[in-house]
Amino acid sequence: MSSLRETLQANLAGVHERITQAARGVGRAGSAVTLVAVSKTFPAEAVLAAADCGQQDFGENYVQEAVDKIKRLRELAPQHRLTWHFIGPIQSNKTRVIAEHFDWAQSVERLKVAQRLSEQRPAGLAPLSVLLQVNVSREASKSGIAPAELPALAKAVVALPRLRLRGLMAIPEPSADPAAQFAPLRRMRELFDALRRDHPHADIDTLSMGMSADLEAAVAAGSTMVRIGTAIFGQRERIH
Ligand SMILES: *Cc1c(COP(=O)(O)O)cnc(C)c1O
Repeated sequence: MSSLRETLQANLAGVHERITQAARGVGRAGSAVTLVAVSKTFPAEAVLAAADCGQQDFGENYVQEAVDKIKRLRELAPQHRLTWHFIGPIQSNKTRVIAEHFDWAQSVERLKVAQRLSEQRPAGLAPLSVLLQVNVSREASKSGIAPAELPALAKAVVALPRLRLRGLMAIPEPSADPAAQFAPLRRMRELFDALRRDHPHADIDTLSMGMSADLEAAVAAGSTMVRIGTAIFGQRERIH
């Protein structure tokens, strides 16, 4: 019988190997890709076991569930310096909790939300790292801004004092066809390169794309951050 920790150790090693292979295939270093372990719906004990295996970055979609887990992890394992990423849709009435508890907000798609996050970021914390979520597959996924709206939103967000614009995030529509999978990922890479050119003095270093099913295609297209749930923690039950 294998313990939770042994299972997670093996799964994390498997994901790192997939990243390394995919990166090598396009002449990149696997170390250039940050692995965010998406722990939504899994208990604090699973996060702790992954953290004990050396995993540092965790992604969560639901504000209250996440905050409970963040607090629990601080009690259980204050020795782990974990980095928490909010990756779910952001409602205006949840910005304060996100600003107070997270290190990153990856799913920013409205200026009003960005302004609130900046205003509500506590003075004692570093600026909140922010990604703008782009709806690159158009109608299929409803979250994210249209590529055409990106320059104006980025310009406004860069000017907010308590945020640090780090780049872009996308959840492309799933596809079993590798070519169809690749096109939106390539498009994201172009948008990311354009954003860097437009803001040479900002710290734009992060292109967050790639989940359990499209990790290889995302890394090949230039992703610098993958968000992996199922391949680490297993299948989620539909509790939300
Ligand atoms: C759930 C989720 C993930 C992880 O998806 P898996 O397919 O389980 O790897 C990544 N990104 C976002 C935004 C998610 O909501």
